[in-house]
Amino acid sequence: MYDLVIVGGGLWGTAASWSAVEHRFGRVLLLERNTFVAGESSAKAGGIVSDFVAHPDDQAWVTESRTLFRQAQEISGDRTMIQENGMLSLCTPVQAEQLATQVQDLQRRNIPVDVWDSRAIGAHWPDLDRVSADMIGIWTPQDWHVNPTAAANAFLTLARVKGLEVRFNYRATTIAIESRRVLVHTSEESIEAARVLVTAGTWTRKLLQTAGIDIPFRPYRTQLASLEFPAGYQLPIVRELSTDMYFVPDGAHNLLVGDGTRLWEHDPDNYETLGDPDFHQDVASGVMRLISKGEYAQLRRSWAGLCGATPDRRPLVGKVADRLYIACGDNGFGIKRGPALGALAAKIAMDAAEAPQLNPHRYPPIDFPLRPGSGGTFDS
Ligand SMILES: Cc1cc2nc3c(=O)[nH]c(=O)nc-3n(C[C@H](O)[C@H](O)[C@H](O)COP(=O)(O)OP(=O)(O)OC[C@H]3O[C@@H](n4cnc5c(N)ncnc54)[C@H](O)[C@@H]3O)c2cc1C
Repeated sequence: MYDLVIVGGGLWGTAASWSAVEHRFGRVLLLERNTFVAGESSAKAGGIVSDFVAHPDDQAWVTESRTLFRQAQEISGDRTMIQENGMLSLCTPVQAEQLATQVQDLQRRNIPVDVWDSRAIGAHWPDLDRVSADMIGIWTPQDWHVNPTAAANAFLTLARVKGLEVRFNYRATTIAIESRRVLVHTSEESIEAARVLVTAGTWTRKLLQTAGIDIPFRPYRTQLASLEFPAGYQLPIVRELSTDMYFVPDGAHNLLVGDGTRLWEHDPDNYETLGDPDFHQDVASGVMRLISKGEYAQLRRSWAGLCGATPDRRPLVGKVADRLYIACGDNGFGIKRGPALGALAAKIAMDAAEAPQLNPHRYPPIDFPLRPGSGGTFDS
């Protein structure tokens, strides 16, 4: 019997696995339905890691996640995992006023931040030559682009060295809670565990329902496009807060452009994984609105993935039944907090930590409206 079975090897599940074996929580097994880790939402993400988040818990999780990303990078030797691009948040004067306390908060935490008018934006980043005259830029130079797949693979390697067992191509089909154990029935065999932690991303609710448990959780869809700039460009990570559009540099000639969020519930087993034609239109007009070089950009490809919403936009991490635990509810910004939340979930599952504010049962499993989020910048 395993002491802990973790179901789902995305960024959260691989980080949880590493934490569990690091803390010597006994015999730990990770189950992943694909033949590799981080093949779902984690692979599809823009990978923005920013301190510009409003909620104090998020601020702490981003700080801890940065440390874990750094450790993973140093130990694995993968120099491409973290790109220190810096981020420019473009806001209207009204938004800049709303964010003034947050800017002060960053300064109080000794995190570098600058507020620029449109002239300063153009002086620092000449390729942003179509920014309107009244636009304000909030510059956070220490923000990163992280490759989540590389990070998840590094967490997995580190965990395996410490004794993690892994089964790929194992899809947990049902979970049954018995008096002294939990049985995870998979596509291959049934597995016995003292405790189970489900980190199955947007499948978490469906899987829990097989154990007769429901949670307030709704998957929604969001999109990313990769554009080719034949003559190259020089840009940091850019977010336009009035539209939620963002750019992430991806090498010298490619730019990732999001977000194309579709705020209605999607089935993780049946949703459109390519970008929509109207998203492509929005990307083209959004890029050309800010950058004249955008006129020559070509669409390389586009894709869509799912995020998991909760009623209060806070994660669900903790116990859902005897011996059964979950970690989900990224609300669209689970890369920047994923390593810390995975580690926390493992500790809660082994009684080594508590986080009552994340109790998965704090709301009944009701329907609730889906809301846009700007990566946690406006969540307080
Ligand atoms: C287009 C897009 C852009 C994004 N950009 C950002 C960003 O810039 N910054 C940011 O912070 N966040 C971003 N996000 C959000 C981020 O991708 C997620 O928060 C994060 O990937 C969640 O990780 P996870 O491990 O919970 O889920 P996942 O990565 O989906 O992992 C879940 C894993 O569980 C496995 N699984 C599911 N069911 C089973 C089962 N029954 N048995 C076994 N295995 C199972 C899946 O195969 C998968 O590997 C973005 C999301 C999308 C879609």
